[in-house]
Amino acid sequence: MPKTIQFIKSAVLAKDYPVSRKAEVAIAGRSNAGKSSFINALAKNKVAKVSSTPGKTRLLNFFDMEDSYNLVDMPGYGFAARSGDEMKEWHMMIETYLMTRENLCGLLLIMDIRRAWTQDEELLKEFSDRRGFPMAVVLTKADKLSRSQMLQAVAKIKKTSGLSAVFPVSSLKKEGQNAVEDYMYENWVKDL
Ligand code: GDP
Repeated sequence: MPKTIQFIKSAVLAKDYPVSRKAEVAIAGRSNAGKSSFINALAKNKVAKVSSTPGKTRLLNFFDMEDSYNLVDMPGYGFAARSGDEMKEWHMMIETYLMTRENLCGLLLIMDIRRAWTQDEELLKEFSDRRGFPMAVVLTKADKLSRSQMLQAVAKIKKTSGLSAVFPVSSLKKEGQNAVEDYMYENWVKDL
């Protein structure tokens, strides 16, 4: 069921993360993968727009998902044009959060279903392997493929990523979000 989403705050440094004991789900993806659309599809309201307002796109944006969990929108990655310093900052911010946040219960990786698993995605998986938090992949824009192409894409990502939790969704058609939410809730949120 869609939840009311409420912006809490933005942060870069660990000292600025909100104080919260709620289970926290981090959400990351390449720019243009469909992350904002997916967050909006999870929510009853459209406050997730906050993340794409100028100045907020390079920060960790913390949201409250009703009385259930917090969602942390991480900045999009994969801009070829980004400078070395920006990449370093991004890396440092992501690493600090993923490796130290105590109430982190899982990472959702958002990918366009038509793209392949690359070193950028592998980097995020390395954090998950190193620290031992669980990870699931959300393949967006499933409506762009036929059913058989969609099944093939899911199987391919499962194989290359080594992850078993891979969910095709269409934010356009509002399909697939419930399966992701149910999975997160049952496997991540409930047990924290
Ligand atoms: P972000 O940069 O990852 O936050 O990506 P956005 O959510 O802004 O989406 C990037 C583009 O993909 C936009 O033009 C969206 O309308 C489009 N898009 C996102 N999700 C879907 C989807 O499920 N289906 C289709 N057809 N387009 C989508």
